[in-house]
Amino acid sequence: MNGQRSPASPCDGHRSLILRARWLLPETGRAIEHAWLRCSRGRVTGIGSGRPPAAERLRQIDLGEAVITPGLINAHTHLEFSALKEPFPAIGGLVSWIEQVIAWRQQQLVRGTGGRLSAIRRGLEESAADGVVAVGEIATDCVPAAILSQGPRLRVFRELLGLGPMQAGYLPPHITVTLRDAQRLSRAGIAIGLSPHAPYSTQWPLGQLALRAARQLRQLVRSQTGGGRAIIPLAMHLAESVDEASLLTEQTGPFRDLFQRLGVWPKQPPELARTAHWVSLLARADRGLVIHGTHLPDDPIAMARLRRHRHRLAVAVCPRTTLALAGRLPPVAAFQAAGLRICLGTDGRGSNPDLSLRAEARCLIEAGVVSPAEALVMVTRNAAWALGFEHKTGRIAVGRPADLVVLRPGEAPSTVGAATAAVFAADTEVVATLRGGRPIAGRLTT
Ligand SMILES: [Zn+2]
Repeated sequence: MNGQRSPASPCDGHRSLILRARWLLPETGRAIEHAWLRCSRGRVTGIGSGRPPAAERLRQIDLGEAVITPGLINAHTHLEFSALKEPFPAIGGLVSWIEQVIAWRQQQLVRGTGGRLSAIRRGLEESAADGVVAVGEIATDCVPAAILSQGPRLRVFRELLGLGPMQAGYLPPHITVTLRDAQRLSRAGIAIGLSPHAPYSTQWPLGQLALRAARQLRQLVRSQTGGGRAIIPLAMHLAESVDEASLLTEQTGPFRDLFQRLGVWPKQPPELARTAHWVSLLARADRGLVIHGTHLPDDPIAMARLRRHRHRLAVAVCPRTTLALAGRLPPVAAFQAAGLRICLGTDGRGSNPDLSLRAEARCLIEAGVVSPAEALVMVTRNAAWALGFEHKTGRIAVGRPADLVVLRPGEAPSTVGAATAAVFAADTEVVATLRGGRPIAGRLTT
C-alpha cells in the first residue's frame, strides 16, 4: 500500500487517463460492457462503452477482460487484531472468546503501543489489497491520525463501555479520554463516530451520554467545515450472543459469571437496558449501525423497532465470525424482510481468519443466502450509507472520487451475471484498488 501522493499515481494531480475494461459495474443495476472510464485530478470525468472519445489524447490503460466495480466497503472491523496469525478459538462461544481477548489485551499493554499500531497498518494494507476503499473501524484506544489518514477511507468509531457506577455530572476518566480522542481525530480530518460496545458491557446512562456526545461532536465538525454537512453515527454490537438475554433481563448467566471472575461486576446492580431500547437509541443518532444482530429475530419488539426506524439504521453482518461464534449464519432474510439496509463486515482477525470482504460475501453466496448482485449492493452502496460516506464513495459516477477496484477473473465473464459473480469468486485476482484515483494497493499495468 502506498497512501502517499506519488508521481506514479495514474490520475492524481493534473494527470488524466482512461481505463478500458471488458466490464464496468458502476452502480446498482447498471453494467457497461467494453467500457471506458476517464479520470482526472482523482475524480471520474466520464464513463462509456466502445471506443473512448477520439479527440482525447490521454494515456490509456487497456485492462483486457477485467471487471471494474466501486471500491468495496468494510462496514465493521477491529484493526487492532490484524497481526494475529489466527483467530482466538471459538469453542465456548462469545463469553469464552471475550475472556481470551481480555487476557491478550493485558499482554499487549505490557508490550506497549508499537504492536497495536503496526497491526492497524497491516490491517489497512490487507484491506486495500482485497479491494477495500473504506472501513468502519472500532477503536478501543488512541491511534495517531497519521496512520489512519493513509490507505482506505476510515470512519473511526471510538468505543465506550463500562459497568461501574455513574454519577450525574461526573464522567469516568476513561470516558473523558475517549471523547477527547474522538475530538482529536476529528480535528485531524478523520471521520469519526462513537460505539457504545454492547448491551452486556455498557450501562444505559453511558449510551445516553454517547448520543449527547455525538451531537456535540457534530457541532464541532460543522464548525470545522464552515457549517457543512456532518454526520456522527453510532455503532453497537447487538444480540450477538444467546447469553445476552439472561443478563439483560435478570442480571444472571454466563456474562455475569465472566464479569465476576474478572472482578468488574459492580456492587450496585448495573443499569442495563434491553436490546429494543438500544435500537431506539441508535435511531436517535444521525445514523445508527447495528452490528451482528444474530439473535434479533428472536426479539419481536426489537425487530419491530428496527423496521420502524429502518430509514435511520443499517445492519452490518459478519458471516464468518457469526458462524464461528454463534454456529449459524446471520439472519439476512429477516433483515431483508424488515426493509433494512444490510452491509457486510469482516469483524477483526480476533474472530476471523483474514480481512477479506469478498470472502465474507462468498460465505453468504455459497450458502444461497444472497445473490452476487445483492452482495455487491451490500459492500458498496449500503455500506457507504452506513458509514456516512454516500457522497464520497460506493458508486462510480461522473464528478465523484475515483474510488474503484480492478479485478481480473480466473475466467473471462461473457455476461453481466458472470461479471458480477466474478467479483466474489475465489479465483479472481484484485489487480488494483484506487482511492480518489490513487492506487492504495496493486498497480495498473499497461
Ligand atoms: Zn465487532
